[in-house]
Amino acid sequence: MAKLQPVRGTHDLIGDEARAHLAIVAAAREVADRYGYGPMSTPIFEFTDVFQRTLGDTSDIVTKEMYTFEDKGGDSLTLRPEGTAGIARAVISGGLRNELPFKCFYNGPMFRHERPQKGRLRQFHQIGVELIGVAEASGDVEAIALGADILDALGILSATTLELNTLGDGESRAAYRDALVEYFTGHVDKLSDDSRERLQRNPLRILDSKNEGDRAVITGAPVFDDYLSDDARAFFDAVRAGLDTIGVAYTLNPRLVRGLDYYSHTAFEFTTEALGAQGTVLAGGRYDGLIETMGGPATPGVGWAAGVERLAMMLGASVPPTRAVALIGMGEDGERETMRLARDLRRAGLTVELLYKGGVKRGLKRADRINAAAAVLIGDDELAKGAVTVRNLDSGEQTDVAIADLTDHLAAYR
Ligand code: ATP
Ligand code: MG
Repeated sequence: MAKLQPVRGTHDLIGDEARAHLAIVAAAREVADRYGYGPMSTPIFEFTDVFQRTLGDTSDIVTKEMYTFEDKGGDSLTLRPEGTAGIARAVISGGLRNELPFKCFYNGPMFRHERPQKGRLRQFHQIGVELIGVAEASGDVEAIALGADILDALGILSATTLELNTLGDGESRAAYRDALVEYFTGHVDKLSDDSRERLQRNPLRILDSKNEGDRAVITGAPVFDDYLSDDARAFFDAVRAGLDTIGVAYTLNPRLVRGLDYYSHTAFEFTTEALGAQGTVLAGGRYDGLIETMGGPATPGVGWAAGVERLAMMLGASVPPTRAVALIGMGEDGERETMRLARDLRRAGLTVELLYKGGVKRGLKRADRINAAAAVLIGDDELAKGAVTVRNLDSGEQTDVAIADLTDHLAAYR
């Protein structure tokens, strides 16, 4: 029998943590709505090809991290490691190409078989947005502004830095690639095994290495800026000018590359010092080649994704649950009346906890433990008078309130 434990790298969301995840998604969705990015969700698994072809067979995700399995029909399926490939697939298979530009917001679990550590799980959650069918720099600016405004709505924008880079167009990347191959070949003895492998297949990705030895070599590597074509430079300048215009601050990071193969032009990350090694909270860029790679017509796109676990860690305890009103029934009539009142009050919009049994003393103790704002004592004597006793649990003050006035009286605790 399987062990009664969660699978390594997976995690139950309970209580405050579950609440924080929901609050993050709700806040993000509200901001995305204002930008016209409506909700979208794709299946949690796709044909393996959807990811293999798009993420590139040199990416860490495809080479090491995918949860791939054969289903009973013999198809190779993969639990989605990220959201963009599935959305691009949907744009092609769902005929959305006639409705461009297509804008969406998504959230949900993603799966990557990597080494679990703080802020790095095997099942984690992302929120993300895509803007498909817009080739203009204003699209990049809008996507980044949306990310910044979501971080701001969560109260954590000021704890992050927006790092910005360009990966240029195909021509620039080819020139830069050659320069990198030449440089890293001269230092190949100091590179990690992973990076030696990358040197053959995708040298740009060495810049993304987290290995300390690699990082030392990377410090001296050529920078992309020297290899940008005029067009690519003009595009990047337009993105930067747009960010300046709307007042979104950024720092240039010429070493910033994205972990996936389908990116071009703008690459960006919102990073923080607050989370130790896993400092990237929100990351994205332009992916003009993606849809064509998947077999669709050439269609530009830009988007980003953010890790909900990392956002939640930054929020800490700042999402307090709504404080409840606790109903404590005494005696048979009191308990029956308690059920009725609880339903009425809940339907009137109040958060109500029923203390199922145990009398006043235990009831008040439990009301205290769940941090209720008030307790309503409902006993036979009170009922005979058509009234209940409301105790403010912060001040200790008690008031007799007619049942008919109870909803109004408790509005203060809503
Ligand atoms: P990293 O460099 O940290 O591995 P990545 O480049 O693989 O990140 P993306 O694919 O860009 O990450 O995913 C976007 C965001 O999703 C990340 O910035 C991070 O917040 C979150 N994320 C990615 N992988 C994980 C994971 N295994 N566990 C938790 N969050 C993750
Ligand atoms: Mg990764």
